[in-house]
Amino acid sequence: MMLEIRKKQIVTTRKKHECYGCVEEIEKGKSAVYVSAKEDEKHIQFHLHEECNKTIAKDKWFSGSGLYRGCIKEAVKNSEELKSINISSLDELPFVLGLQKGLGG
Ligand SMILES: [Zn+2]
Repeated sequence: MMLEIRKKQIVTTRKKHECYGCVEEIEKGKSAVYVSAKEDEKHIQFHLHEECNKTIAKDKWFSGSGLYRGCIKEAVKNSEELKSINISSLDELPFVLGLQKGLGG
């Protein structure tokens, strides 16, 4: 699934919209980025927070197949998961697994 961005413009929202990147609400009366895109020969339109648009513009990964509904939310979630993995050291892992087994049985 390829998403090809055709047009981007800054607009002031006249009603609430869902941000395509983080799936959070864009409030009425805020400036947001309105995007026209083509996805599998189909034309789609969506809104992005200005911040989310910056994230997409900065990160080349999003400009290809990495751009999809909720992609920023996923990216944030993934980076948080990575951080939490880094905190627990590998030495602790056998202990945690043993504990879970004991509780489950
Ligand atoms: Zn957003």
